[in-house]
Amino acid sequence: MARHPPPSFPTRHLHRATRLVHAGVLRSQFGETSEGLFLTGGYVFETAEQAEARMKGEEPGFIYSRYSNPTVAMFEQRMAELEGAEAARATASGMAAFTSVLLGRLRAGDHIVAAKALFGTCRKIIEELLPNFNITSTLVDGSDLEQWEAAAGPKTKMFFLESPTNPTLEIVDIAAVAAIAKQVGATLVVDNVFATPLLQSPLKMGADCVIYSASKHIDGQGRCLAGVILASEKFIEDVHPFLRQTGPSISPFNAWVMLKGMETLELRVERQVANAARIADTLAGHPAVARVIYPFRDDHPQASLARRQMKAGGTMVTFEVAGGKSAAFKVANALKIIRISNNLGDTKSLITHPSTTLFQRFDEEQRLSMGISQGMLRFSAGIEAADDLIEDLWQALGK
Ligand SMILES: *Cc1c(COP(=O)(O)O)cnc(C)c1O
Repeated sequence: MARHPPPSFPTRHLHRATRLVHAGVLRSQFGETSEGLFLTGGYVFETAEQAEARMKGEEPGFIYSRYSNPTVAMFEQRMAELEGAEAARATASGMAAFTSVLLGRLRAGDHIVAAKALFGTCRKIIEELLPNFNITSTLVDGSDLEQWEAAAGPKTKMFFLESPTNPTLEIVDIAAVAAIAKQVGATLVVDNVFATPLLQSPLKMGADCVIYSASKHIDGQGRCLAGVILASEKFIEDVHPFLRQTGPSISPFNAWVMLKGMETLELRVERQVANAARIADTLAGHPAVARVIYPFRDDHPQASLARRQMKAGGTMVTFEVAGGKSAAFKVANALKIIRISNNLGDTKSLITHPSTTLFQRFDEEQRLSMGISQGMLRFSAGIEAADDLIEDLWQALGK
């Protein structure tokens, strides 16, 4: 039984650019062009019988905004249609999406296998929070398929990975890991933030669930946080009681901002990818740059795998300057247009020094095991003119 009324008109068969604008619209009696922002916690029922039927799930409709809300439902439906997933649930942040999938699906005694190179907080949750619930984990080198196979045992219920990884832009072979997961009876969950829904479709490669921090490219304008869980109806139904009962619900306002963000997602990501690819090539020719990492460059060790599973090289470029932390700080501080921030996927170009920010909580040995050096900078391409960005990088690298 659907939780709420169907969208105004079917859009799944339409082109992606059209779906990004029209999918999921629940138009109210007022005929608004811009999706309604329903800032309401509760809903009124026509009769006591209707309230009973809604609670029993015998009649679709809204009950209470911790469970569902029209603006949130529009965002979820548009995300499901973008990803090609049967169902979606939105959450207050990317971390809420990740934690809900873990705690909604795993039980005490279960085991999870995850790649070492993860968004820092995801790794902390696996290593530090899950043991409180007697859920054990093994971290593997994501690109070494034998390690995934060797780490899985009878208690393994879930595989988790991110590709490209943050910040070293390593590529994990999603189809191959999905095949191993299937073989050992585990579900594969993929954090697809860096690739975006436009450049990589893990569900089509055999993953069971995709999660996003929509705070990144999907909003794309640095305004608010959101998370999304995308999977089959069955998978989502399994996570639903956890979401409904514990309440990591997204604010309708944030969901509305995300709907607006989705309308320009394709245009923004196209420009960001073009800027990132050009900046990667330009940086590779600068004498102060020791190494450039970009998935579609021929010198990326996994370029052919990247080209097989991604439609483009992405919006992120990681590079290393000779001279370690002080040289990297000097470059970051000298930038004028490109600002220092931990965020990514924004219309504004941003730069981060991963080892002192995102990965500060790890020790140097752990950082090096993840390939993160002191001279490394992570660049998130915005939608500015590439020539201005290149000039900014060039003047900063010259200092
Ligand atoms: C930002 C991010 C998250 C966490 O998302 P929030 O919305 O900040 O909670 C998870 N994974 C990746 C790869 C991210 O970049």
